[in-house]
Amino acid sequence: MSLADSPPPHDDRPVWPAIRRGLTLRCPACGEGAILHRYLKVQDNCPVCGEELYHQRADDGPAYLTLTVTGKVAISLMVWLLFTYDPNPLLLFAFISAVVIGLSLYLLPRFKGMLVAIQWSRRMHGFGGSDR
Ligand SMILES: [Zn+2]
Repeated sequence: MSLADSPPPHDDRPVWPAIRRGLTLRCPACGEGAILHRYLKVQDNCPVCGEELYHQRADDGPAYLTLTVTGKVAISLMVWLLFTYDPNPLLLFAFISAVVIGLSLYLLPRFKGMLVAIQWSRRMHGFGGSDR
């Protein structure tokens, strides 16, 4: 039996369920405990299963993703509104500002949860230490 015939190694931390759990702000290991507290602070340990989460190094990743998505949505919306309805510029500015602020506040913690979950799933940084 050659190496090509052997079954692929079992992935005990599949990435897509972890991403889904991270986007819903849940622990990537159990999917039950809250991953964040105080809006953007990552819990040291999951309050339900005790999984260590302090190994995360999300850094500027969530802000970068939030800026990218929010910018593309806001600019597309602004151009569409401008050419479709030709609104008052002050009204357009106020509306787009509200969309940008609201979307940023909504997306930032979700992207942080997603990046922490990806790091957990791929055993990055200290997440690969030992399994329970
Ligand atoms: Zn958990």
